[in-house]
Amino acid sequence: MLKSNATSCSNAPILKERGQREVFCGLTSIIWLHRKMQDAFFLVVGSRTCAHLLQSAAGVMIFAEPRFGTAILEETDLAGLADAQQELDREVERLLSRRPDIRQLFLVGSCPSEVIKLDLAKAAQRLSQLYAPSVRVLNFTGSGIETTFTQGEDECLASMVPVLNESGQKQLLVIGALPDVVEDQMRNLLSAMGINDVAVLPATSAKHAVTVGKNTIFVATQPFLGETHSALERRGARHLPAPFPFGAEGTTAWLNVIATEFGISNERFEQVVSAPRARARKAISQASEVLSGKSVFFFPDSQLEIPLARFLVAECGMTAIEIGAPFIHKGLVGPDLDLIPEGPVISEGQDVDLQLDRVLKARPDLTVCGLGLANPLEAKGLTTKWAIELVFTPVHFYEQAGDLAGLFSRPLRRRAALCREAAA
Ligand code: SF4
Repeated sequence: MLKSNATSCSNAPILKERGQREVFCGLTSIIWLHRKMQDAFFLVVGSRTCAHLLQSAAGVMIFAEPRFGTAILEETDLAGLADAQQELDREVERLLSRRPDIRQLFLVGSCPSEVIKLDLAKAAQRLSQLYAPSVRVLNFTGSGIETTFTQGEDECLASMVPVLNESGQKQLLVIGALPDVVEDQMRNLLSAMGINDVAVLPATSAKHAVTVGKNTIFVATQPFLGETHSALERRGARHLPAPFPFGAEGTTAWLNVIATEFGISNERFEQVVSAPRARARKAISQASEVLSGKSVFFFPDSQLEIPLARFLVAECGMTAIEIGAPFIHKGLVGPDLDLIPEGPVISEGQDVDLQLDRVLKARPDLTVCGLGLANPLEAKGLTTKWAIELVFTPVHFYEQAGDLAGLFSRPLRRRAALCREAAA
């Protein structure tokens, strides 16, 4: 079992930087959200650039009936010459008459809609009344001015919280979009412990009504859900702080916090976790042979950095030099910070030039960073891991623990193979 360190990073000073940053915008979240929420449609109110980003990021969806689209703001809209609200109403009418399967429609703000101050909250309210009860219309922002790529999910989930039905029943609510197969694994573990009343936000369909109230206890599977956390607390729900379920020990700690809250005995808990935990430990030890004793440097990208650094340090034997995150929400990542021994620089926000100076000076064995920085750093002889892959790959819970370690060990193995080839 993981133990807090007497001298952990929880009270370490945080280096706060506010400069140029290199992160995708929140529209990117639509790529995984539209797969998860099968009767939802994401209508981005944006420019051709926004449409292009979505189409290229979701290229694999080209043969499927898409669940996202872009209402393009033309130059006349941007110049304020047309009534963008009326245009939007017409666009929504066209969409909903063509697609009667849509139950939830999200109007997603972008940089252009923000610049012209298009009031999407007003539009969502008006359209929700018009199409109630068959379609619920909500809005959130995915604009690059306001959000990094994982914050799109946070904004989306937070927009749903105020309209969830009230419930006074004691229930567990798990927040964060997980691939269906991973969500099933989580539900199976919880139900084997005897916890069956489990709701997940986002649900796969609007018909699985998620409820909330003062007897709702919520736990997060993703560390980037700060707004959703606040929105749920405003509805009276109580947060269970826990390390995130990455790796054998992170998953055990996450489940243990829930088991304790729901009064599950130690014997029952051990019966449920011992076999999958042993499998996960074995898988991690195979993949982490190459990681042990190596150093890692995280650029801020997905907000997964602190829990992942905890996994690499505590379960794979790595040393962290710097752990950068776009935002640090101690209510969410505090339990992981507690488990990282003092030593690494903890940085929040970004001033990319200063951070590049630091990484080049430290020359870590592995650098986790965004796509834009990876190639230049590789050219300087550093080994990199694309942070965005960690969001698109199933990495939570026991059965994915070996794959998670493998995502970090592969670039190091590749570099070693290239060096061997060059020397031969
Ligand atoms: S929302 Fe902004 S940053 Fe994102 S694609 Fe559109 S214009 Fe670009």
